[in-house]
Amino acid sequence: MSRRSLRCLLRCFLILALPLFFRFATAHAQVATPASVLGHNPGDDFYLADYDDAIRYFHALAASSDRVKMFKVGKSTRGEEYEIAVISSPENLARLDEYKSAARKLADSRDLTEAQAKELARTSKVIVHIDGGMHSSEVAGGQHSIQLAYKLASTQGDPQIDAILNNVILVLWPTLNPDGQNMIVHWYRQNLGTQFEVSPMPYLYQEYVGHDNNRDGYMQNMIESQVVTKAEMDWSPVIFYCQHQTAPFPARIWIPPFSDPISSNISPYMRSWLNVVGTQMSAALQQQHMPGAISQDEFDNWYPGFLDFTHVFRNEISFFTETALYRYATPRFYTVDEFPKQYQDLKALTMYTDPWQGGWWRLGDAVKYMVTGSMSVLDTAAKYREQLLFNRWQAAHDNIEHFKHAAPYAYVLPNPQADTPEAAQLAQIMIENGIEVHRAKESFHANGSTYAAGSWVILMDQPFSGLVKELFEVQHYPQAILNSGGDSSGKPVTLPYDVTGWTLPMQMGVRADAVTDPVGEDQRAALELVSKADVAGGVDGAGPSFVLSHQANASFEAVNDILAAGGSVGFTKDAVPTSEGTETGAFVVSGLGRANLSSILEKRGVKAVSSSHGGETIALHKARVGLYRPWAPSIDEGWTRWVLEKYGFAPISIYNAGMKAGNLKAQYDSIIIPDISKNLLLNGFKTGIVPSQYSGGFDNDGVEALRDFVQQGGTLIAFNQGAAAMIDLLGLPVTNILDGVSSDQFFCSGALLRVELKDRSRPGVYGLPENPIVMFERGPAFEPKPGFKGAILASYPKGVNPLESGVLLHPEKIEGQAAAVEVAYGKGHIFLYGFKPQWRGQSHGAYKFFMNALYKFDEPAFGELPAVEVAKDAHGDKAASKKKVEEEDETPDE
Ligand SMILES: [Zn+2]
Repeated sequence: MSRRSLRCLLRCFLILALPLFFRFATAHAQVATPASVLGHNPGDDFYLADYDDAIRYFHALAASSDRVKMFKVGKSTRGEEYEIAVISSPENLARLDEYKSAARKLADSRDLTEAQAKELARTSKVIVHIDGGMHSSEVAGGQHSIQLAYKLASTQGDPQIDAILNNVILVLWPTLNPDGQNMIVHWYRQNLGTQFEVSPMPYLYQEYVGHDNNRDGYMQNMIESQVVTKAEMDWSPVIFYCQHQTAPFPARIWIPPFSDPISSNISPYMRSWLNVVGTQMSAALQQQHMPGAISQDEFDNWYPGFLDFTHVFRNEISFFTETALYRYATPRFYTVDEFPKQYQDLKALTMYTDPWQGGWWRLGDAVKYMVTGSMSVLDTAAKYREQLLFNRWQAAHDNIEHFKHAAPYAYVLPNPQADTPEAAQLAQIMIENGIEVHRAKESFHANGSTYAAGSWVILMDQPFSGLVKELFEVQHYPQAILNSGGDSSGKPVTLPYDVTGWTLPMQMGVRADAVTDPVGEDQRAALELVSKADVAGGVDGAGPSFVLSHQANASFEAVNDILAAGGSVGFTKDAVPTSEGTETGAFVVSGLGRANLSSILEKRGVKAVSSSHGGETIALHKARVGLYRPWAPSIDEGWTRWVLEKYGFAPISIYNAGMKAGNLKAQYDSIIIPDISKNLLLNGFKTGIVPSQYSGGFDNDGVEALRDFVQQGGTLIAFNQGAAAMIDLLGLPVTNILDGVSSDQFFCSGALLRVELKDRSRPGVYGLPENPIVMFERGPAFEPKPGFKGAILASYPKGVNPLESGVLLHPEKIEGQAAAVEVAYGKGHIFLYGFKPQWRGQSHGAYKFFMNALYKFDEPAFGELPAVEVAKDAHGDKAASKKKVEEEDETPDE
């Protein structure tokens, strides 16, 4: 070739190639980098992007890349706009609706034959959910989503990423908790560079429930849970992957496989793929020279209420990982001699294949581990796309076939029942979980019984009914684990990470009958599918007074509305007819016009009957309710606040300063102490851990203020460890028989127990059934001492194991002992509960235990009882309560 033709060729090449090169380079340069928008890279030391920053970046990214689209999916509790980024190839993004529809069709299975399902799996794309976590103090997750999005949007010419973009549609949530990300980042920024740089935030990072935002998966009490679940059912991802921190120290990341136990109600396809995804991730981390991945240790799959796990019952491979965390964006150096003794030899284990050797750990390391975890999940999804899509059809199909031939064939929620609005609410919760619920148009016959029209029926031959079984059946812990203890106590070696029993109809006080015979076509003809389950409230008959059942929780909402509207309400002292039968303690309403009352009752779904009741009533007034709110944030306080607000009790938070200032009786009629230990009540955060305005507890001054409050006629209500604390602090004539009892003598970390009411004449138990079921979670149990004045409200039955669902070891320890007592104290009363009557907003069946006590009674029905002799110095030794504030970097999390 001559020089001339060479020059010509070169020129031709440049003319042809240069525009391509420039177009490529420009496209590449145009993709917004995190640094160009935020001024930092995700994972930089001492820097955290808050939620607003993250959204700003995602919008810049979507504007500069054809691989990213943004969607709004709802609003948070504090009104932040929830936005998600959908990332895939431009071709896939153009056909999103088609792929979403295919995902839902495969997940449902019923409109597709096996051959059609296979063909759809072959031609469709796999949708994967990944998020930046929901536990906001676990800060790396929200930084990782920025980095992951940038990597996927900007990388060119990488075969792995090309394969992901072509095969996978990533639904990326910057975070599952926008409010919390803003709160925690702002807290860090204000303390950065001060002595409080790594101090814990003195409020819950979700308005009500903080860390328990991952305990609300099926119940969906919180707005965040509703938004996440609704969007998840809309997108129907094959994989749901949530980022958490902290790994069991010194591991750098915890990944699946999980520890036992795992529920048998999960599809075996999902159970095995949970392991596959984890194993692939282990290999991917090794490939990137990232040591310290651990599996199985610590985290199990027993409780179905984790918001990042409930979806597994909708046949999604749902799981999380736990990357190591120090605090916020502050780096930390670790030496091997800080490791737990058993890890100091740095020996490899089957499930800890490459032990971490110590050294620096920075936010940037955590972000890198998380991005590697997410990339591994996307890579697995791309490689096994077709099989994963087909598995969803198979899992749903198998489940339907199974329940065509095996009991329970259905569950019936009879209407009417003791608390019919609660039954409707349970049916509605199932609908919101993607379960089909039917209503009987006419009488429904099953189990040799006839259920009235209006009863709700859940047929089990539907795609996701494993969730129904999981929530409705009694929890029996696997024998293989219960028997593996080896010691004489029989205490299981592997205790569940969370509670052991949660049977929802039991918790809610709802009757749900399992149908043990197949449901034929004639029976199905009596049913209609409903999209909403509720009961119509209203007024029967004409005034002047009306009676509301005390058995329906919804009546409390109505009563609070009626009191607020200026009506009068009293408890009947004798038995009167109500819409639910005949009962003592029914609410009698007067002084409110019929139209006004009707609109309240319709709104609350409560029925009232007109009454000529002329008997005695105990008049009640809207109570001024105070709720102790510590600076060391209490999840139980938050749940209590949420329940009280929902029911219209309008609680007022009492902080330490308010408690110590005293004069409580002038401000409150009832005060609630949530499930908080004595040490935290008295001492709170130790001095020096948090800025001084947040340190300390309510101290001796607070104890004296509470004592005065009750002696002057106030009502004190204390839950669980808060109740145990009040016995000590106020010197009550009650023994906590479980105080100091070791777990081999008695163990119950969260199970449903049956109690029996002992004194039905007390207004504190009005409306409750004879044998309510309560959530026992590491609580006290009570025995009155000589000199006790008051009443035992409920006891664990004598000589009978009270266990209804879950694990209870050594039941004999509490049989016959008191579960709830009312102690007369000066002119007032103290209600002590050895269980959690408001547990996670789920134990609706036990709500009345404390809701009755919240009202101010016109006339104390109990009369004035003599004051109990108390020792003034009985409130514990402060020096002895030096419980270490848990180190975040060594506390396992989920
Ligand atoms: Zn977490």
